[in-house]
Formats: sequence, C-alpha cells, structure tokens
Amino acid sequence: MKDKCQAIGDNRVSRSNQVIELVGNTPLLELSRIAEEVAPVRIFAKAEWFNPGGSVKDRPALNMILEAKKNGQLTPDKVILDATSGNTGIAYAMIGAALGLKVTLAVPGNLGDLHRKILKGYGAELAFSSPTEGSDGAIRLARKMAKERPDLYYYVDQYNNPANWMAHYNGTGLEILEQTEGAVTHYVAGLGTSGSFVGTGRRLKNEKKDVRLISFQPDSPMHGLEGLKHYPTSIIPGIYDEELADEEIAVETEVGQEMALRLAREEGILAGTSGGAAVACALRVARGLSSGLVVTLIPDGASKYLRHAFWENPEP
Ligand code: PMP
Repeated sequence: MKDKCQAIGDNRVSRSNQVIELVGNTPLLELSRIAEEVAPVRIFAKAEWFNPGGSVKDRPALNMILEAKKNGQLTPDKVILDATSGNTGIAYAMIGAALGLKVTLAVPGNLGDLHRKILKGYGAELAFSSPTEGSDGAIRLARKMAKERPDLYYYVDQYNNPANWMAHYNGTGLEILEQTEGAVTHYVAGLGTSGSFVGTGRRLKNEKKDVRLISFQPDSPMHGLEGLKHYPTSIIPGIYDEELADEEIAVETEVGQEMALRLAREEGILAGTSGGAAVACALRVARGLSSGLVVTLIPDGASKYLRHAFWENPEP
C-alpha cells in the first residue's frame, strides 16, 4: 500500500494543501420557503457545514494556526493547545493532522461520545475538565496547562486571539458582500467566541455604513444551542466587542430546535440547533422589515447532534 502511494506520489498536490484550501468560500443559500411569509424581504444563509471539518470554526482555526506559524510562536516542536467543546477542536485536529502538527484539547468531561471519537479519529490528545463546569472549566484547564508547560504548548486561546475574528473579517464578511453584490442590509449571528459576529460584522459595517448587525445568544445558562454561550453567566471573550451590535436577541433552545426541523423539512438543510436559532432570529428580524436582505450563518450540520429526541418529532 505504502509503495503504491509513493509510486503515484510525485505528481500529487500534497493532501494537506488540498484539505486546507477547502476552508471558506462557502455557498450562500437563499431560504425561499422559510422567507415566504416576509416577501419581498429575502433571507440567505452561509452554508458553513461545507467547510472540510464540517463547521464555521475551520476558518478561525486555520487562520490562528497559520498566523502563529508565520509569527514564529508555533514552531514544529510545539503542540497546539486550546479549550474547545466541539467544532473548534475538530477544526484544530483536522488542520493539525493536515499540517503534521500535534494537537491537545482541553474539553469538558461530559463531551459527547461522537465528538470524542471524531477528535481521537484525527489523532488529537484530550485533557478533560470537570463535567459540571462546562466550557469555562475547559478554558481554565487549558490556561493552567499552558502556564505549566510554555515550552511544550502553543496556546491558541480562541477567545482572545484576534486572528479568530480576522478570519471572518477577511473571509466570511467579504464573501457575503460579494455573494449579495453588496445588497446585504442585515447580518444576524450567534455568540460563542463571538468571532463570526465581530469579524463579519466589522467588515460589513466598514464597507456599508447602514448595515444592521444583530447578535443573539441563548436565553439561559442551561441551554441546548450547541456552540453558543450565555454571556451574562460566562467568561466574556476578550475579542467580543460590546459596541458592535445594533440589536441583541435572547433565544430559547426550543426555538432553535423548531427551526432546525423546519430547515430540514422545508429547505432540505439538516442544520445544528445554533443554525436553527440563527435562522429563527433572521426571520424575526425580517418580520419587522418591509424590504431588505437578511444574511445569517448556519455554523454546522446536525449529524453530530442527532441523539436529541426532537429530530423525530412529526411537526416542528
Ligand atoms: N454555532 C456552532 C455550532 C459553533 O460551534 C460555534 C462556535 N463555538 C458558534 C455557533 C459560534 O461561533 P463563534 O465562536 O464565532 O461566536
């Protein structure tokens, strides 16, 4: 097998280059059925599950790693370290494998079995924080590990790393401007690290002063909108810009789940619940308009979350 691969190897573009080149430039889909009730207002969503690691987090993960390689903080002898309860970890693990770099992730002890297998599948090492402390417990563990072994780890720190939001400033934001030919009037995004809201939002505001930026977050600390944070009870990310949003929305888990079902059944899009919540918020914004073009992100697909019973509900 090895010999065979080597025999055809000379003329190939290396695997790592090909995988990494697939990050970003995702399709922008019009949600025409969901938006029927708000016509002539139109709603579009960036299909972020098209990224090779399956989520929007491939964008910041790749940018943060490439930036750290460029500025010399991430040398080949170092291990990539960060706290992540999901998609960023998958992105680091995939990109680390593609670039031949080791990855260690601090994750909450109650991380789902499927996530664990995906991360292990890519060859990442896992360090578990207390299952009762959620993603903030994982952040505290990563900080401690980085402090104890600065010689071993490059601590990416996605919550405080400007290369996180810059990935969206130079990628997602520009793509939305191009794909809508500048017609975007509203941008709606959920808050996790806030990178996708802050980076995309800043780019849109810079290019189009009157664009309205709407952020949303779960309405309670114990929620089921995976990838999102309830800011009033969380460590606020250093990259978050509290001046940026023109409007803020608090969303219930059930609203995200209901819209995830509607997206599956009316648009053929099997989105995660943060994507469901994003489209529900986009629709809420659109209902208040008489004209406009509302853009949101669907951060990932549902395949990692299908253990949740609501997927079998006959009606949204
Ligand atoms: N949805 C999902 C499914 C995510 O994994 C994340 C990232 N944690 C987000 C939304 C929020 O993205 P950001 O970190 O850019 O705020």
